[in-house]
Amino acid sequence: MTQMSEQVSGGLDSADGSGQGGAGVPRRMVTIRVPAPESFEAAHEDGLEHGIDPRTGVDMDAARQAAWLYLKAIGEDPDRPGIRQSPDRIARASREIFAGLSQDPATILEKRFPVQSEEMVLVRDIDFFSVCEHHLLPFFGVAHVGYFPGKSGVVGLSKLARLVEVYARRPQVQERMTQQIADALMKQAGARGAIVVTQAEHLCMAMRGVKKENARTITSSIRGIMRNPTTRAEAMRLILAQG
Ligand SMILES: [Zn+2]
Repeated sequence: MTQMSEQVSGGLDSADGSGQGGAGVPRRMVTIRVPAPESFEAAHEDGLEHGIDPRTGVDMDAARQAAWLYLKAIGEDPDRPGIRQSPDRIARASREIFAGLSQDPATILEKRFPVQSEEMVLVRDIDFFSVCEHHLLPFFGVAHVGYFPGKSGVVGLSKLARLVEVYARRPQVQERMTQQIADALMKQAGARGAIVVTQAEHLCMAMRGVKKENARTITSSIRGIMRNPTTRAEAMRLILAQG
């Protein structure tokens, strides 16, 4: 295999951020051989998908290269048999995990049913799986989504789950995801009020750092007439009700 490589050198800061390593002297130098795209492809000529995935916009070649390089960077041998296909698996999984980046919530919410309702619509326990944008590690849990339909009618109940999914399948922070779902209901579904509560476990907290394995993070966003204290209390009662 011909291997056109370029050398990449970089210093790693000390892991604890103390910066002890002498003024301007990296503690450890790493040199990574970056395979040229053609060398990786030559070793995997079996039906790889190339270029920009038309459905999601993921650059398959670049995603494989990045995954290969990352494995190398952490001290793995990306070419050992067990993980040789991993860069391609990661690239293909990325299309699914981050599919929300190429999806427009407006198209999910545009279809309405002309039902005039003064009542709140609430769907509890919508499972979601997302990825924290700081560590690219999963966070997952449930979302509870309630809203008061506006004049344009109600959206299908399954669309609320789809809406959660569109925002979950992106690099995210839980607080922003919660706000985005509420804002989409107000702006794109014409809701008069909205409440979104999410409860999630973050693997970046469980696996590293503070190591709070069982910590659950709860965030909420409340918009429009849902801010009325009585209405908000009723929504929270329904969300927190057992069973
Ligand atoms: Zn994180």
